[in-house]
Amino acid sequence: MSATCGHAEDPSHPIMIAEIIAAGSEMLTPHRQDTNSLFLTAQLNDLGVEVAFKTIVGDSLEHLADAARTALRRTDIIVFSGGLGPTEDDLTREAVASALDIGLHRDAEILASLYKRFAARQMAMPRNNVKQADILDGATVLVNPVGSAPGQMLDTSVDGYRKLVLLLPGPPRELKPLFTDVVKPLLAEILPPRFIARRLLRMPLIPESQVDARTAPIYQQYTDVQTTILAGHGEIQLHFFTSSTVLSEAQARVDELASRVEAEMQDAVFSAQGESLEEVVLLMLEMRHLTLAAAESCTGGLLGQRLTAVPNSSRAFLGGAIVYTPELKTRFADVPEEMIERHGAVSPEVSRALAEGIRKRTGASLGISITGLAGPNGGPPGPDEERPIGLVYIGLSDDRDTQVKELNLNGDREYIRWWASQHALDLLRRTLL
Ligand code: ATP
Ligand code: MG
Repeated sequence: MSATCGHAEDPSHPIMIAEIIAAGSEMLTPHRQDTNSLFLTAQLNDLGVEVAFKTIVGDSLEHLADAARTALRRTDIIVFSGGLGPTEDDLTREAVASALDIGLHRDAEILASLYKRFAARQMAMPRNNVKQADILDGATVLVNPVGSAPGQMLDTSVDGYRKLVLLLPGPPRELKPLFTDVVKPLLAEILPPRFIARRLLRMPLIPESQVDARTAPIYQQYTDVQTTILAGHGEIQLHFFTSSTVLSEAQARVDELASRVEAEMQDAVFSAQGESLEEVVLLMLEMRHLTLAAAESCTGGLLGQRLTAVPNSSRAFLGGAIVYTPELKTRFADVPEEMIERHGAVSPEVSRALAEGIRKRTGASLGISITGLAGPNGGPPGPDEERPIGLVYIGLSDDRDTQVKELNLNGDREYIRWWASQHALDLLRRTLL
């Protein structure tokens, strides 16, 4: 889910907008994805260029030329990836020539270097390869340090508007170095200077609609900052992005907006610089010289996995036990057998005993427990049998007291397990605040 609001506009330096066109029928199948445009978007953003459209086109001269015409009409910078090879279906050069109604000429220097490449491998060059030396009239050749097909850049105008057209090879291992080493420095010289500033605020376990209702009145006042709300995996992310001809100005704008949103959302915000919830919790534990151990049932170690994915987490996270069966809850966390029989494993009593048990067993300052029904089947015969899927208890114990939180989660097994771990981390965070 995403919503993009506001638009970066500065009449004295209008922002350049770009379209990326990925050429290749394979990317219109379920088997291959266009990843070049992700790389290119990040690179263009760095240069202060906004990517307004992405298009994927099959290997058809007509469709490619059509896409080129559309892009020339609606954007300033058009970046093609792919279709520069020697085969019949490599048609980008011809399509762009047709869309711009210009010619192609065979570049003698490139032709010579192609022959040399093949000679060096003691191979005869197939006839098809000569078309890799075809250059759009007026274009600059972008020497490809890795592959055979060079890139091209054409600085031209259409109906009085300046257009930059870039033709780049499809293989990512060729496109990336060509862009960073050759294209980026060229564009940096040509384009008006623009600096990008970004901020990211992250909030766990809060509905997107609530975040939007509370923050829209603030971010809507910043029409020069692009605000994007992303929801998923038990958290909401608010991305702020702006560009300006002066770096400090751009930074000041996003910082001011971020502080105002933080003031509104208060402790719902767990990260103001993009850190993960795990990192924040570990940092808080470390700062307070506390250690943590976990007894996990329905999450099967997911919480431990998430915490230990952070380097140096052993400074605060000692470890714990996956106590999936009743026997192991008793054996590794000292939960009395009768308690499980009487109340069931998915009960506040057992959750409390697990958190206390794992804390005492490991000598950690804090013990956390997760026990619940992740589905799709219900609980085993006994007290858990009638309990709803999605019922989860989280216990958190220190040497003074133990709190138990009940959750009623909706979703499939994966969803329930993830949200349970997310709630456990957020309970820790809120307790440590
Ligand atoms: P070649 O000389 O290798 O033919 P080319 O410029 O003609 O280069 P394509 O033929 O379009 O490029 O693509 C070659 C390979 O590069 C594809 O098989 C694919 O694996 C990869 N590729 C092409 N376009 C993309 C893209 N947009 N994202 C990721 N990979 C891509
Ligand atoms: Mg090809």
